Amino acid sequence: MREVDSLLSGPTGQDSSPVTRLPEAEAESPSSIPLRCVFSVDVEDWYHILDVPSAPPMSEWDRLPSRVEENLVKLLDVFAEKGVLTTCFFVGWIAEKYPHLVKEAQGRGHEVASHGYAHKLVYEMTPTEFLQDAVRSRRILEDLLGQPVVGYRASGFSVTPKTPWFFDVLIEAGYQYDSSVFPARRGHGGLEGSGYAPYLATRGGKSLVEFPISVKEILRLRVCFFGGGYLRIFPYALIRRMARSVLKEGRPVVFYVHPREIDPTHPRLPMAAHRKFKSYINLDSTEQKIRRLISDFDFVTFQSLLAKNERLLGG
Ligand SMILES: [Zn+2]
Repeated sequence: MREVDSLLSGPTGQDSSPVTRLPEAEAESPSSIPLRCVFSVDVEDWYHILDVPSAPPMSEWDRLPSRVEENLVKLLDVFAEKGVLTTCFFVGWIAEKYPHLVKEAQGRGHEVASHGYAHKLVYEMTPTEFLQDAVRSRRILEDLLGQPVVGYRASGFSVTPKTPWFFDVLIEAGYQYDSSVFPARRGHGGLEGSGYAPYLATRGGKSLVEFPISVKEILRLRVCFFGGGYLRIFPYALIRRMARSVLKEGRPVVFYVHPREIDPTHPRLPMAAHRKFKSYINLDSTEQKIRRLISDFDFVTFQSLLAKNERLLGG
């Protein structure tokens, strides 16, 4: 209960939308979640970096050189070396422009899920704008796949106390699970007080499973070792030790990576030194780290975790 309550306890923001506030959520810690890891890929291009003044607006994306095609295929080839299936969260704009990438991921057996349409921060949208963006990306992907899309991840894990309506709207948008909660302090986003094991959020009889990004509590500090800059910065032996420890605690480990992170030569956006460090450090060693992870751990998709835990959906 505490996890979801913390989502609801923040300020309501400028909620002027017609989205109905549903009864208070209930959460439970599912004991039947198998002890496996999930590798998730946020499918976007090198210029989809958030919260930097030099990030180009959507009107310019079309004119920029693209690296996502080459990098996603290369990344999927790496996963294929060990037969690992991932969950690929596609930005809807990318899916529309490169529909063959969606089909490539599907054809190789990966789960295709949604990373929103316009890669906007959730807390910068109204509930209505968020609903439209989440529905639009789901429909684009479903049209391409010919099957339902059940999973969602917000850009920049931008679920915060400023977005208490997040789960309500996501359920309304037709999703069955989410992996957007970053249960620690973070630049854009982060729900520091949130639960960090998977949990069920129920609204008015409808449910959604939340798979938070994995963190490990060290000296009362929650630290992520498993994705983006964290995965690139920490040494492999430490990441492996922390992942084993999370599994021992009975939680799946959620890893995440972006296609650009295995491409040390991709174009750079100008930005402040601390952001440059986080965005571009160790791009040349990430591919090797992924290879070691897929050798050392077992992976499943979010969808197959859900399928094995149907009771979470009230089914
Ligand atoms: Zn993203």
